[in-house]
Order: sequence, then structure tokens, then C-alpha cells
Amino acid sequence: MSTYMYLTCMDHDPPLLADDESGQHHYDLPRIWREIENREEVANRMHDNWTNIEEYFESRSAKFLAAHPRCDIGVTDEYGVRHPKPSTATTPNSP
Ligand SMILES: [Zn+2]
Repeated sequence: MSTYMYLTCMDHDPPLLADDESGQHHYDLPRIWREIENREEVANRMHDNWTNIEEYFESRSAKFLAAHPRCDIGVTDEYGVRHPKPSTATTPNSP
């Protein structure tokens, strides 16, 4: 069963969901959180010429992250459930 995942700007009231989903399964969450953590790099790589499904979702994340460069970003699924950062999303350089 798929669950669409949307980036969400928590600085908006009410929180603003992205128009396009960044993933369709719970196992996409670690990647989505990595994109949030590296938002500047992801936004800079924004492109429409995606060649695989990861880049397809990344380009959607990039579009939203570029529009919200300094906002508090969360992840919300299609049922309105918020998904906090999983521990597996921690990058090797994080404290
Ligand atoms: Zn915002």
C-alpha cells in the first residue's frame, strides 16, 4: 500500500503542504529527510531532466525547498499524519 509523502512548511499557519509528493512509501522517509537536511544542495541541483524515480521525487523536493529556504520543514502524509525524522536519516557527519 502506498502512502504519499509531502514536504510541509511548518512556518505557515496552517502548515503548507507541497503540491507534489516527495515519496510514495514509508521507506522514502530517510531520503526525504536527507533532502531536507541538505536543502541548499538539493535546491541548487533542481532540474526537470530526471532520469530515475529518485530524481523525480528529488526534483519535487527541490522545488519546494527552494521556495522555503529558511522555513521549518516537516513531512506529512496524504492522511495528514506528520512523520518525524527517523534515526536512520542521520548523516555520518552529524554529531
Ligand atoms: Zn515556508
